[in-house]
Amino acid sequence: MNISGFIEHSKPDISSLEKEAIIEVMGKGIFTTGQYVRKMEKKLLKYLGFESGISTLSGSAAIQLALHVLDIKPGDEVIIPVYICDSVWHAVRAAGGIPVPIDCDNNSCNISIELIMSRISKKTRAILVADTMGYPFDVLELKKHTDIPIIEDACQALGSYIYGKHVGSFAEFCVLSFNSTKMITGGTGGFLAFSNKKNYIKAKSIYNANDGKISKSVKYSFAMTDLQAAIILAQLDRLDYFLKRRLEITSKYDSALQEIGLERYKHGKCDIYNNYRYLFPIHTQNVQTILDRAKSMRIKIKRPIEPLYKFHKELNEKDYANTQKFYDTHLSIPLYPSLTNYEVDFIIKKFNSLLVE
Ligand SMILES: *Cc1c(COP(=O)(O)O)cnc(C)c1O
Repeated sequence: MNISGFIEHSKPDISSLEKEAIIEVMGKGIFTTGQYVRKMEKKLLKYLGFESGISTLSGSAAIQLALHVLDIKPGDEVIIPVYICDSVWHAVRAAGGIPVPIDCDNNSCNISIELIMSRISKKTRAILVADTMGYPFDVLELKKHTDIPIIEDACQALGSYIYGKHVGSFAEFCVLSFNSTKMITGGTGGFLAFSNKKNYIKAKSIYNANDGKISKSVKYSFAMTDLQAAIILAQLDRLDYFLKRRLEITSKYDSALQEIGLERYKHGKCDIYNNYRYLFPIHTQNVQTILDRAKSMRIKIKRPIEPLYKFHKELNEKDYANTQKFYDTHLSIPLYPSLTNYEVDFIIKKFNSLLVE
């Protein structure tokens, strides 16, 4: 931040490593899908402890690919959280499915298992759950109740662990995103991991329409480029540092909040949290006041996610009371590795005047 500058809500951390990686790839002359993509996939799979995966143009493309692997037909229903990026709704529609959005658990930002079970019908072909804001969803618990394939949207959760394993380990499919606001970025980019070899083989045969192979099934143009992969590779090398820096900032915020008698949002089951977001507790009446105050202090504070009923008129806010309550009582403050110590201290100094009348 310079003196006149604004502290952004999120910002990628780009070093000379990423810049050198781009120059290296450009020097090869060809930078569609090639050796950098393969190298990145190998490294990422090793980090996650997963067997197989395919990199894609975006997280949304990875979701659509998972649904094509499941052979979603028009009229098939796909359960999704209502408290999630709108692109997930559109990925389901693009695959030909009908999205069925479900409310959060009480006092949680993750989808409710009880409500999922109450909405499963004969037409339900897949359940998409999300590790919202990096907080693990309990896939093992859901699996006690149903055999329907689970797509775990871990787009915000790279680096989070549950039951001793990386999130995504217990679902049929795990989705990651490398969009510019995520844990690591390639500008855009996504990844689909598989717990089942057959699903992997099917995905491999349809994700790249340019692969020069004969196929009876429709193929898609979802392949990542070497240019994206080279940036992501450099970011992966820095992931441990990113996680450490996020934790450091979170700890500073925690002590400062404690001094004014407040506490951030804490999640139920979670072995390691990636510190993707820092959620401020607030009272409903204060939201706009706090947003205005933050703006005048030149700090970007945000409501972390806009629920799907804000975009789709056919959904009724009244059916999603838990989500609305969470939305109304939590704001997200800047938390990212490129935040300087000066900026962190500046934000902390404003805690009191931001949050206390
Ligand atoms: C970012 C995000 C997506 C979409 O990923 P893109 O790479 O932007 O397509 C989907 N779900 C969640 C939870 C996300 O955070």
